[in-house]
Amino acid sequence: MSNETRDVVIGIDLGTTNSLAAIVGKDGPRVLTDSQGAALIPSVVSFLDGGEVIVGAEARALSISNPERTVHSVKRLMGRGMADLAGEVDRLPYTVVESDNSKLVRIAIGDKSITPQEISALILGRVREQAEAALGCTVEKAVITVPAYFDDAQRQATRDAAKIAGLTALRIVNEPTAAALAYGLDTSREGNVVVYDLGGGTFDVSVLKITQGVFKVVATAGDTHLGGDDFDRTIMEEIFALITGGDNRPGKVPAEALQQVRLSAEAMKKELSSAENAMLEIDVGGEQPLHYELDRARFEAMIAPSVELTLKCCRAALADAGLQAGDVDEVVLVGGSTRIPMVRRRCAELFDREPHTELDPDRVVALGAAIQADVLAGGNKDLLLLDVIPLALGIETVGGGFAKLVTRNSTVPCRATEMFSTSVDNQTGIDVNVFQGEREMVADCRHLGSFKLSGVPPMPAGLPRVEVTFLVDADGVLTVTAREQRSGQEASIDVVPSHGLTRDEVRSMVKESIVHAHEDFANRELVELRNKANNLVYGTTRVLDMPEMPFTDEQRTDLNADIQNLKKLVGGDDIEALKAACDAFGEKTQALADNVIGEAIKAELSKGMTQA
Ligand code: ADP
Ligand code: MG
Repeated sequence: MSNETRDVVIGIDLGTTNSLAAIVGKDGPRVLTDSQGAALIPSVVSFLDGGEVIVGAEARALSISNPERTVHSVKRLMGRGMADLAGEVDRLPYTVVESDNSKLVRIAIGDKSITPQEISALILGRVREQAEAALGCTVEKAVITVPAYFDDAQRQATRDAAKIAGLTALRIVNEPTAAALAYGLDTSREGNVVVYDLGGGTFDVSVLKITQGVFKVVATAGDTHLGGDDFDRTIMEEIFALITGGDNRPGKVPAEALQQVRLSAEAMKKELSSAENAMLEIDVGGEQPLHYELDRARFEAMIAPSVELTLKCCRAALADAGLQAGDVDEVVLVGGSTRIPMVRRRCAELFDREPHTELDPDRVVALGAAIQADVLAGGNKDLLLLDVIPLALGIETVGGGFAKLVTRNSTVPCRATEMFSTSVDNQTGIDVNVFQGEREMVADCRHLGSFKLSGVPPMPAGLPRVEVTFLVDADGVLTVTAREQRSGQEASIDVVPSHGLTRDEVRSMVKESIVHAHEDFANRELVELRNKANNLVYGTTRVLDMPEMPFTDEQRTDLNADIQNLKKLVGGDDIEALKAACDAFGEKTQALADNVIGEAIKAELSKGMTQA
């Protein structure tokens, strides 16, 4: 594919505190910066009284002087209704209101109101502008990341925000998955990865399982109100105490000093990530500027309770995933606050291994998103990650037929369930073979994986009720679960249907299905006829074997001859002959059943009457 026809697709980390974009270039993934080299754009939008809208760093600076009209942390409101936000809205300095025509909330700015999606769109617009300036071309497509725990409504709100910003969100990717991709962990064959993400206002930990280069989020935990802002606040409180001489009542600190103190507190915190000491001189209008000093040990003591809370979440996530700390193969640190040495140290201790910190923790997610974006732009031909299922997904049925559960072009995430049973008596282990393709026979499809549902109690054929569920998550991971309802036995497998499949392969598989449509149909019919014939033979043989069945010798010989004939036809491929034999045999046995079983019932009834 030439450069001209290749799409420009960027990866965007739309964060609670900061947002940024990245792209894969000739030398690999890189973040897109402004002319000063800054990549991070604060996720803040401020509405000035005169109608002007300010986004990014300048807006963040206004959050103290213009708190009611400056919106930060809008990510918390995405796709949420008032009922979801209990306790959340009281913490925000701006006003969140219910919407008249939808369940989702709006943000009141003066006498107008605006949706969280529109605010996010303004942030995405800034990210897009910065990306376009850095690339020198227009950008219309992006991969956008969201926390792993985001539900459908939150993901949809993110897509809507992109649309408002004039961007098509080709894919919504989980943040921890993006982080793991940025570190190239998808190339490992097997393993457990913990992604520890401590940002500005939130903490998330995710446990990912890699199987054959495929990620699956197996557990998440966290605290939606724990992050770098809390660390800033503890420092600010000390500074306020100093300014007011211990009197911490609101109003004691001059408003103009507030903003300066907040910025200074954050700057000191960041400094302590590399230096042992930080100090501050603040002019509070007195004769001497105020002097404040903080060393790393004391800062660590101040934030220790918060850090321990994050570790508690990690243990909970591990327990949820059914893992011990020792089962973790890789730990990835994400989020600006993981630059704090104590955070790194405590993580290393908990998991007993050095976490990955080679990449900038506040850029990792955007870099991973860019890698996904590159795949979608056609840059990486080895992978095909799509928003729709490119080829039908299903399982093998008796005789090599292909039962499609998920049809081609279904959008992900999606789910489908169907009931199956056994075809042989006393089958205690059921093989589930998962295939992908558009043809009618599994022999012409792509084998994705197999697993065995074992421990099914012995039952006659057709009696077990096996519920097979196909679930494709937002990352394109397919989980197939088989559950025998009578015994509750369950087994499952995870695969990525698009893994290692190129666009050309998909195209040719679809084409083949059209070319072979006629022959496939005939094949399918033959398989179905064979199954029908086998069922007839099986059922009739069973009835013949029952000593209480009042068949005459003549009837038995006749039926046995028919059974032999059917068996012979099943082995061949003369569809017409098999069909005729099935139909004839079906009619004969039906008539016999009515008759013979009728006789049997009559005999039973008369027995009952003589006894009475
Ligand atoms: P989010 O994912 O919530 O958008 P980020 O990953 O951008 O957030 O993290 C932002 C947080 O990281 C802020 O609280 C910021 O102060 C903090 N941070 C950034 N650099 C450092 C550093 N060097 N030391 C400590 N904290 C830092
Ligand atoms: Mg983040």
